[in-house]
Amino acid sequence: MAGEDNKARGGKPWRQATQLVHAGTLRSQFGETSEAIFLNSGYVYDTAEQAEARFKGDEEGFVYSRYANPTVAMFEARMCAMEEAEAARGTASGMAAVAASLLCHLNAGDHVVSARALFGSCRYVVEDLLPRFGIATTLIDGRDIAAWEAAVRPNTRAFFFETPTNPVLELVDIEAVSKVAKKAGASVVVDNVFATPLLQRPMKLGADIVVYSATKHIDGQGRCLGGVVLGSKEFIEEKLHNYLKHTGPSLSPFNAWVLLKGLETLPLRVERHCSSAASLADFLSQRREIERVYYPGRADHPQAALAKRQMDGGGPLIAFEIKGDKGAAFRFMNALNIIRISNNLGDAKSLVTHPATTTHQRLTPEERAKLGIFDNSVRLSVGLEDPEDLATDLTQALTAAK
Ligand SMILES: *Cc1c(COP(=O)(O)O)cnc(C)c1O
Repeated sequence: MAGEDNKARGGKPWRQATQLVHAGTLRSQFGETSEAIFLNSGYVYDTAEQAEARFKGDEEGFVYSRYANPTVAMFEARMCAMEEAEAARGTASGMAAVAASLLCHLNAGDHVVSARALFGSCRYVVEDLLPRFGIATTLIDGRDIAAWEAAVRPNTRAFFFETPTNPVLELVDIEAVSKVAKKAGASVVVDNVFATPLLQRPMKLGADIVVYSATKHIDGQGRCLGGVVLGSKEFIEEKLHNYLKHTGPSLSPFNAWVLLKGLETLPLRVERHCSSAASLADFLSQRREIERVYYPGRADHPQAALAKRQMDGGGPLIAFEIKGDKGAAFRFMNALNIIRISNNLGDAKSLVTHPATTTHQRLTPEERAKLGIFDNSVRLSVGLEDPEDLATDLTQALTAAK
């Protein structure tokens, strides 16, 4: 999709939806239409000299699938085209991407500033894992720009956050935080899962590195795990590549193929997820059984102006508080018919989560309260079902929960 094809638009790259169908395709000698699955671990060489040249880096080509694989390379190239990033590497899961994006360039003695509101395992990585290797971390309220500034130390090397946050959809101002990081000489790592790659482009707003759990909307049908890290050629090829190559959290070629095909339909799916989520957020906010709705696309979101500025839509997730206690939340969830109870998100199937007793169970009630997670908080990942059926399901479950 590079070079020749782009001439059709006077040298401009094809638009995003076109790139997501074509970019990065490597066609074999058989001329297959759909991308092939190269389910191989190793590669053979015509001569010993060729093997030597590949290992020395004098000749381009594949060496071992822990380092690179054609199907994985297609997925990485397509992600780069979507994100307009210089380079990317696929990983076995989103958590492999998050851990690698930090560990590959940090050293003992470094310091990381991270927003406190994080996906559970991300919080483990910054709060528990990094300090074990001599990397200090400071957790702050990511919404507060002054808190980012105040947390900077001479040895601060990275800022880490997600936006919107899990589970109550608070926002972090990517542009403002990136400016603070630049001044501090720290790199900005953004976990962009909740916005999906289509609604928010962190690198355009100053972030250096973007990570995804491709398990979520990129696959979008709950089939496989995967992750990806995107950044500059220098960061990906010199720092991340060696870390992945020698520690081995490689993306399986089969999963890469599933994700590659997922990218083809991502714009259609995200559009539907978001339009349904927006209408369900409005619907929920009018129900008297609901205390409060958090949806970045609504005017009553505390950071609605920021949402408008940095996102192209309200996103596929909604959080809300049910009037009552944990019992009311559980009764509501248990009464749902189409919407299923799960800790996962970003599926064609609508999924509902009770964060206080599952994803954020590890935290104390006080720590949860700081994150806006209460016993009556519920997170809804809106799927691809007919939105009117989803509203019907929510209505009958809210009535049953009373
Ligand atoms: C799911 C998720 C992850 C972890 O991804 P896995 O693919 O499950 O390892 C990290 N960050 C966010 C925001 C997520 O939603």
